[in-house]
Amino acid sequence: APSVVWFRRDLRLRDHAALLTAAQQGPVLALFVLDDVLLRTAGGPRTAWLRRSLRALDADLREHGGGLVVRRGRPADVVPATAAEVGASAVHVSADFTPYGARRDTAVETALAGLPGSPGLVRTGSPYAVAPGRVVRGDGAPYQVFTPFYRSWLDHGWRRPAESDPAATTWVAAPGDGIPDDPELGDGTTLPEPGEAGAAAAWARFREEGLAGYDTDRDRPDHDATSRMSPHLKIGTVHPRTLLADLGHSTGEDAYRRQLAWRDFYAAVLHFWPRSAHGYFRRAFESMEYDTGAEAQQRFRAWQEGRTGFPYVDAGMRQLLAEGWMHNRLRMLVASFLVKDLHLEWTLGARHFMDHLVDGDLANNQHGWQWAAGTGTDAAPYFRVFNPITQGEKFDPQGDYVRRWVPELRDVPGKAVHRPWDLPQHPVGYPHPLVDHAEERREALRRLSAVQS
Ligand code: FAD
Repeated sequence: APSVVWFRRDLRLRDHAALLTAAQQGPVLALFVLDDVLLRTAGGPRTAWLRRSLRALDADLREHGGGLVVRRGRPADVVPATAAEVGASAVHVSADFTPYGARRDTAVETALAGLPGSPGLVRTGSPYAVAPGRVVRGDGAPYQVFTPFYRSWLDHGWRRPAESDPAATTWVAAPGDGIPDDPELGDGTTLPEPGEAGAAAAWARFREEGLAGYDTDRDRPDHDATSRMSPHLKIGTVHPRTLLADLGHSTGEDAYRRQLAWRDFYAAVLHFWPRSAHGYFRRAFESMEYDTGAEAQQRFRAWQEGRTGFPYVDAGMRQLLAEGWMHNRLRMLVASFLVKDLHLEWTLGARHFMDHLVDGDLANNQHGWQWAAGTGTDAAPYFRVFNPITQGEKFDPQGDYVRRWVPELRDVPGKAVHRPWDLPQHPVGYPHPLVDHAEERREALRRLSAVQS
């Protein structure tokens, strides 16, 4: 009997453990479900990225005599209906560890059990090098700090890439609802090349040009020297083990492996503390005082649009709007700025990021925000308030990154671009700083100490 492979965050055909398991048992129907619950929270770039990735997967499947069956609806209805239609013996998936994903899969499993022949939901593999829950402390407790997790993760190790082969798989067809057209994207929005081919090309480029210097260059947004694999990892057009299998032991490769471990770490944190997706990891911060009201709203809008008057912050926010992606250094800075300079709650910023980021990932995003807000895992950087001006001078010393994203400042030479208020004439059309950083820093520390005491 055929089986169904239900694709979710694994939109690829190589290094796909669940597909390998299914194909060994017989013909395979490739299914994707457009689930409104998940689609509701995705903004334009992320929606377009998903649809382009689905089209790429469909094209790859067609090359091998198959095709992607895309259906719209509740997974607990659609998946069992599809399985029944083709008389499937099982539905194969890569395990999902997000709170919603785990609940959804349990509901699907229950519905499948009620069908004739009771096909099972078979979970093989996950989107991670090491599945959440596997790396724990000696006493079985989960890690709350990254560095010991990382050591343990290295000791644990991971499997070789799975040898799934679309050419050696027999594919089953069925009618579907089709993949919707892309939503309108803002002017100048550029998305990466989608699909497995896009992921492989991005990885090959980075290995050639970026990996050797990654340990030092990854902090330089002006050099644009990171891998940009995050949109692919998010949607599974590549599995992290495929990347890990290519890494040796140079300093660049060691640094890259460590960053991939952060992804596994945050997935594990979310698995053990599902409430940290929307609530405070450190509960003391629930009593933190934030600004609300019309002025706070206006400040929030200025932050979203990249009009705070702090060039480095604005450049980051505008990169997000244009590319659906932002360099990690800027993510840390603009998050710190929202919480500690504008005194707005991290959840507001996290939602804006999830709307726009093509790599928007619940575990990485919410915990990245909580880290920046000082409310998350790892030693709380209680007194760490990023300085939006000196951060720019340090990590964008010639001002190239700012000039790339803030056209009003394009004619300001060198690092002077980080302090437009010191120029003989304030650049036309560029806003004056929304706040006084030194003052807001003191205010942030006052509010934080009230929470911590
Ligand atoms: P590279 O530097 O090339 O890193 C390679 C890969 O390692 C990344 O693709 C990612 O999978 C992983 N990685 C690197 N840094 C981190 C990190 N700090 N935490 C977790 N994984 C990491 N990452 C997301 O994938 N999705 C998000 O929604 C997201 N939101 C963030 C929000 C904030 C406030 C912060 C501070 C960080 C966030 N990150 C998020 C982490 C990080 O910024 C991105 O993974 C990285 O910028 C992606 O670019 P890259 O692929 O070129 O990274």
